[in-house]
Amino acid sequence: MSLELKDKCGVFGIFGHKEAAYLTYLGLYSLQHRGEESAGIVASDGEKMTAHRGMGHVQDVFDESHLQSLAGDRAIGHVRYSTAGSSNIKNAQPIWVDYSKGDIAIAHNGNLVNADILRSELEAYGSIFQTTTDSEIIIHLMARPSFRNVEEGVMDVLNRVKGAYSLVFLTHECLIAARDPQGFRPLWLGEIAGSYVVSSETCAFDIIGAKPIREIEPSEVLFISQKGMKSLRLPKADRLAHCVFEHVYFARPDSRIFGESVELVRERLGRQLAREHPADGDVVIPVPDSGSAAALGFSQESGIPLGMGIIRNHYVGRTFIQPSQGVRDFKVKVKFNFVKEVLEGKRVVVVDDSIVRGTTSKIRVKSLRQAGAKEVHLRISCPPHRFPCAYGIDFPTKEELIANRYTPEEIKKYLDCDSIGYLSLEGMLSCVSFPKENYCTACWSGEYSVPFGGVDKFYAERNRKAAGSPSFRE
Ligand code: SF4
Repeated sequence: MSLELKDKCGVFGIFGHKEAAYLTYLGLYSLQHRGEESAGIVASDGEKMTAHRGMGHVQDVFDESHLQSLAGDRAIGHVRYSTAGSSNIKNAQPIWVDYSKGDIAIAHNGNLVNADILRSELEAYGSIFQTTTDSEIIIHLMARPSFRNVEEGVMDVLNRVKGAYSLVFLTHECLIAARDPQGFRPLWLGEIAGSYVVSSETCAFDIIGAKPIREIEPSEVLFISQKGMKSLRLPKADRLAHCVFEHVYFARPDSRIFGESVELVRERLGRQLAREHPADGDVVIPVPDSGSAAALGFSQESGIPLGMGIIRNHYVGRTFIQPSQGVRDFKVKVKFNFVKEVLEGKRVVVVDDSIVRGTTSKIRVKSLRQAGAKEVHLRISCPPHRFPCAYGIDFPTKEELIANRYTPEEIKKYLDCDSIGYLSLEGMLSCVSFPKENYCTACWSGEYSVPFGGVDKFYAERNRKAAGSPSFRE
């Protein structure tokens, strides 16, 4: 699955710590799973801003000299994944501009559903965009001279943008963290040695020894400066819409999001899956890493022992040289290998977090059989994905989603597995703690809580971003 879906970003920020850039680097290291294509940090010493951004993994983008040059006690950072075609350094974040009120940098996780309208309006009044990201729209809106100060600009602009955003801003005076009124993406506030930190996930606090304080609430905007912390509110939404798929797949299992442990939610998903779709198997095999906790839950509930029959190679970088011929299914094989000794002659129950296009799963079933599995039973810890995400996860087109074309029985035939079982929507929502109305389930149900002009328009906009901004020529 992880070859097929990508989250778009992770954000981190810190204010008032003398090692701000180093801690941001470590924080981004922990958030690497949220974006593997580019990384960046912007730091300020209160008077001067410095930045470094680059393509690739965090460890490849930064070295000691970069971190030393990022001077100051306040910083924000970002890791990014982009849609195909828009993967270039111009779109790497944080975006930093010098406008009439001074320097400001921004880093964004999410997707604005009215970005195309706002962008057209701005372009009609002469704005020239440097990137194809939604985040630059926020900066352009803030640059209008009518705002008396940054606080006024941020609150006004966030009232105008719609969709999913967990944002961090940095000015010389303050760190600002904001979460959209539906609370689609996670965003946490923490503390280290008297300094405030914010992060997409708590795993970034653990690596630097920060203590989580609380989640930044949906519709909350925090202004952190030398004077302390101030919390302002945007108008509340009619309903919340936490992304359940963060729990199923995207977030790290050692993080807490939406009020609970990701690991424990995944184990509950696995137990519920075993109740809904029991299997006659000899061994339960997780698809690492995101399927591991659900497989553990499935094993505990079913009494079928857990075995590590699939091994993931963690050292696959952003790019690798593909053989031109001779090695079939290379992309899957470079990431996963199969342990014959665990699989041979066994009825294998494979627990995965989702099936998107089905191409990866098909290769995996074939590989399991080649490794000696007698039977392959697929169990998926969420319902079939039938609709795209408009709120910050990069899905393939609706036509490419296998569950949109086939019934589960047809998918079973296509994948050539012996049985298939998807967790039900109700079953999935019974495994998370808040009332079910507080979660977004649009990619399964097609019920989008923030209207966005329809799937066709969404894809047209996505293609435009992937192709590059019409007003920008490289
Ligand atoms: S559509 Fe799916 S992936 Fe997107 S926010 Fe909603 S639950 Fe998450």
